[in-house]
Amino acid sequence: MESHDYLQKICPDLSSFNLPLMRNFKLSSTGKHEFQTTLDLGGFGISRYVLEYLLFSEAKRNGVVFMLKCKANDIYYNEKEEDYIIKTDSGNVNALLVCNSTGRNSNMETKERQPKLAGINYVGIKYHVRLQRDASFIEIHNFPGGYCGLSSIEENKSCLCYIVNSKKLNSVHNSIPELEKAYLYQNSHLKKLFSTAEFLFKKPLAISGINFKIKAPVTDRSLCLGDSAGSIAPITGNGMSIALRSAAVLAAMVDDYFLQAITRQQLNDNYSGFWNKEFSTRVKLSRHFQRLSEYPLLTNMSIRLFKPFPSLAKSIIRHTHGAPF
Ligand SMILES: Cc1cc2nc3c(=O)[nH]c(=O)nc-3n(C[C@H](O)[C@H](O)[C@H](O)COP(=O)(O)OP(=O)(O)OC[C@H]3O[C@@H](n4cnc5c(N)ncnc54)[C@H](O)[C@@H]3O)c2cc1C
Repeated sequence: MESHDYLQKICPDLSSFNLPLMRNFKLSSTGKHEFQTTLDLGGFGISRYVLEYLLFSEAKRNGVVFMLKCKANDIYYNEKEEDYIIKTDSGNVNALLVCNSTGRNSNMETKERQPKLAGINYVGIKYHVRLQRDASFIEIHNFPGGYCGLSSIEENKSCLCYIVNSKKLNSVHNSIPELEKAYLYQNSHLKKLFSTAEFLFKKPLAISGINFKIKAPVTDRSLCLGDSAGSIAPITGNGMSIALRSAAVLAAMVDDYFLQAITRQQLNDNYSGFWNKEFSTRVKLSRHFQRLSEYPLLTNMSIRLFKPFPSLAKSIIRHTHGAPF
């Protein structure tokens, strides 16, 4: 919800979608017990495709020029013209400032941003499903090696997405159905869910090589937005909000820079300062939760602890989320 008002402001068409609000949280693991609580802030659900299509249409209406199916390959500083040259598949683009939002696995890393921590690799698998459930819940179901999230999106559909240590996939000869049977089904909630849901994709959407590198929000060539500055482990479910918030704040700073209210150095310093203050602790904290989320024993212990002390769970949730902007 922290990004809801901002998104509504930049994309008024969003209100025509009756998007599900999620105010409750459920956590389960391989044990008998589960934990439920209300969420102070909560969230709203929307599929990636609808969100991006709405933002794309709104930006186009406002005069943004898109170069579709075109990859940016490198950025150079042109000392003579004092501008940047972005080399793309469709030719060069000149720019006074470059904002890089190329995500987690950018091809435009510089030496100064080589990952400080190689980390563990995870695999992410996503489906859209239809099933009878209370749409006000966001659910996390842990299993050996990872966890599966279930959240509501538009048109009474739900997004079912799990993230698993890639070693588990290797152990079943890289077969997704085998992985689900061998590991996910150890959680009875997941076994029931997978056997009763209507799966809407022909094949699951899979991404491999996920790790949570610590990067830097500013490089010598560009200002980095969203995951390209550093990605938060999705166990805390907040990467989209961080991406939107970093863009909102940087947009205002860039205005100041072009109005000559601040210098380029001040722009770099202000943005770095903001990013590190707001997100760096959350990104680091999320990596610990990601690691813990692989072990059912720890999740079962947390469930037993949260049940008599729900304020503890609420406090952890609060520490991984920001305030509305
Ligand atoms: C398994 C998994 C589950 C997640 N679940 C959640 C969740 O439940 N909630 C949540 O808030 N977040 C979640 N996240 C995190 C969320 O997806 C990211 O934080 C968010 O997408 C970051 O947005 P972004 O725009 O920075 O990067 P991206 O969404 O990665 O977008 C980058 C874009 O840049 C394009 N691109 C890359 N390189 C180039 C190039 N050289 N030239 C041109 N274009 C390029 C890519 O094609 C892509 O379209 C999850 C992530 C994973 C991996």
